[in-house]
Amino acid sequence: MIWDVIVVGGGPAGLICSENLASYGLNVLVLDDRDEPNMDKLCGGMLTERALREFSLDENILEREIWGVTVSYREGESFTIDYDERVGGNVHRTELGKYLAQRAVSNGAEVRSKEHVKKLKIRQDYVELSASETYQTKMVAGADGVNSIIKKLLNPMDDRKSLGFCVQYLMSMKPELIDERFGKRNEFYYGGDVSPFGYAWIFPKGDCLAVGVGALLSKVKENLKTYLENFVKNHPVASQKLEGAKVIRFDAALVPLSGLTSINYSDRIVLVGDAAGTVSPITGEGMYYSMVSGKIAADVINRAFHKNDFSEKGLSVYQKKLKKRLGSELKWGVWLQNYFLKGQSSNVGIGIMSDKGMQKLVGDLLVGRKSYTRILVRAIPYWLKNKIRNTIRD
Ligand SMILES: Cc1cc2nc3c(=O)[nH]c(=O)nc-3n(C[C@H](O)[C@H](O)[C@H](O)COP(=O)(O)OP(=O)(O)OC[C@H]3O[C@@H](n4cnc5c(N)ncnc54)[C@H](O)[C@@H]3O)c2cc1C
Repeated sequence: MIWDVIVVGGGPAGLICSENLASYGLNVLVLDDRDEPNMDKLCGGMLTERALREFSLDENILEREIWGVTVSYREGESFTIDYDERVGGNVHRTELGKYLAQRAVSNGAEVRSKEHVKKLKIRQDYVELSASETYQTKMVAGADGVNSIIKKLLNPMDDRKSLGFCVQYLMSMKPELIDERFGKRNEFYYGGDVSPFGYAWIFPKGDCLAVGVGALLSKVKENLKTYLENFVKNHPVASQKLEGAKVIRFDAALVPLSGLTSINYSDRIVLVGDAAGTVSPITGEGMYYSMVSGKIAADVINRAFHKNDFSEKGLSVYQKKLKKRLGSELKWGVWLQNYFLKGQSSNVGIGIMSDKGMQKLVGDLLVGRKSYTRILVRAIPYWLKNKIRNTIRD
């Protein structure tokens, strides 16, 4: 049989895409290589409120509601922003995967786990995929994450300048202690002692905490796990808050942080989610953006079926729509990445975070309530001041 669409990868991008495709009446198959779709995907797990609202996600998937953030930016200096409404919540990715898969299935999609797609060949009238069997399909949505084999096919020369590298512990703690020490806040830690060009985070869930360190891969010269261990054991604030917590899992993964992948479509193929580079270059938020790209891809694929045009030219509208919706947000994020994430070595980062007026904007950015451009306008004076100071010094 020839499927209408095969979605490779059952993460948030692939599952939102298939749910929508199935609702348009298309014959959709999702192939994911894990035991269950997206099972144990490494993630801090924070879903922002805009993701919950825009995709009508059931709030029962939240392990903990989030109403604020604490940002620690220099030893002993921090600020907390509390909101008068929920700004998101923390989830377990296995549970999110199950939930999104069930939504796709109830719309009519078929989801198959433990199916690793190894190869893909574009034929004249269909695409052939090799997994445990050979599949044929009219269209492919490549939602296979940061190490996407489909992205490599479309962008063989794309060297991904800004890949992030993350290490994370899942640590167990009694729920009462989590309530007492973290409440309904996610915590972000900046500074050279915490991460080489990046940040650390503690995201509380029901009975465990996601505790991680991320950095730009190009800046990681030492073992990043050493930073994580140091953060957990020796950070003056974090080590006390984590006292008594037990490591139950350790993982490491890459995350794309350089904005949209240059080519996101080809004959009969579109790239979605991390495969298309839809992650915030500055906060690392990816679930919301991947769902947005999944929905756009579904609309474009549906249009292709109506026009019976699966050509590269016909599908070029996908790149245009993706750029229009996410392009500038992600592009300016890359700019800000330079001046914000390296807070430890730049007066800009410190200047921004120690300015009371900016702190609310930083909080808003971290919980996805404000666009980068708002931050950018306020960051420019710090950037200019820094430039002038450096010019005088030289
Ligand atoms: C440490 C860390 C912390 C993060 N924290 C957050 C956070 O708190 N909030 C947030 O919004 N984002 C966060 N992100 C980013 C977020 O996890 C990703 O952006 C998001 O998961 C992307 O979704 P996706 O569907 O594109 O890809 P993925 O979730 O990676 O899903 C891809 C799926 O495809 C499968 N697959 C891959 N190759 C194949 C193949 N060849 N055949 C079949 N299946 C395949 C994979 O197993 C996987 O299930 C974090 C990322 C990291 C690394």
